[in-house]
Amino acid sequence: MFKAHVRKGDTVKVIAGEDAGKTGNVLSVDRASQRVVVEGINIQKRHTRPSQANPEGGIVRRPGPVHISNVMLVCPNCNQATRVGRSRGTDGSVTRVCKRCGKDID
Ligand SMILES: [Zn+2]
Repeated sequence: MFKAHVRKGDTVKVIAGEDAGKTGNVLSVDRASQRVVVEGINIQKRHTRPSQANPEGGIVRRPGPVHISNVMLVCPNCNQATRVGRSRGTDGSVTRVCKRCGKDID
């Protein structure tokens, strides 16, 4: 299984595409398609008809998925976009490590 370097709830920086340079909160990660949905990134307008759930209809803006390689994790310790290392603890658990400041992320 593909190992994602970001998880739901992480703050990430977009490094490619229309929203390059923006940061946002990860709303979901789809490891199968290697895509992530990030708050405020790749906003797509959906024109919806009025329905029972949405009686007004109209235009709904929602973030669209971007490829996971186009986002970098923002380290909560040093606050910079960084690559992610992994270290395995004595109990076998895996911890993500910031390549910039060397601190644990999880
Ligand atoms: Zn760091």
